[in-house]
Amino acid sequence: MKLPICCKCHYSFRWRSAIKVLFGWKRFICPNCKTKLYPTAESRQKASFVLILPLLVLLLLPFFGISFLWTFIIYFVLLASIMALLPFFYTFVDEEEPFW
Ligand SMILES: [Zn+2]
Repeated sequence: MKLPICCKCHYSFRWRSAIKVLFGWKRFICPNCKTKLYPTAESRQKASFVLILPLLVLLLLPFFGISFLWTFIIYFVLLASIMALLPFFYTFVDEEEPFW
């Protein structure tokens, strides 16, 4: 597993700056070569898929007789783990791709 790198100069981004970009808090500009970067369509698809998982857990666990409290605990642990790992699944390119 590795953090996203710049497609031009191969600068490796820090986890903190990668997570900010994923939540749209700032544009991704390589601090090394100043290239404007965009996540690939594949990365965005992966991200939307993994973000659905905790939601499924939230909806499905009550059907298995798991208490409300435990469902929420599992949901937040899962969500936190996904957030922590998400930047490792991202790839950036220097031009914007359509979603599909
Ligand atoms: Zn760069």
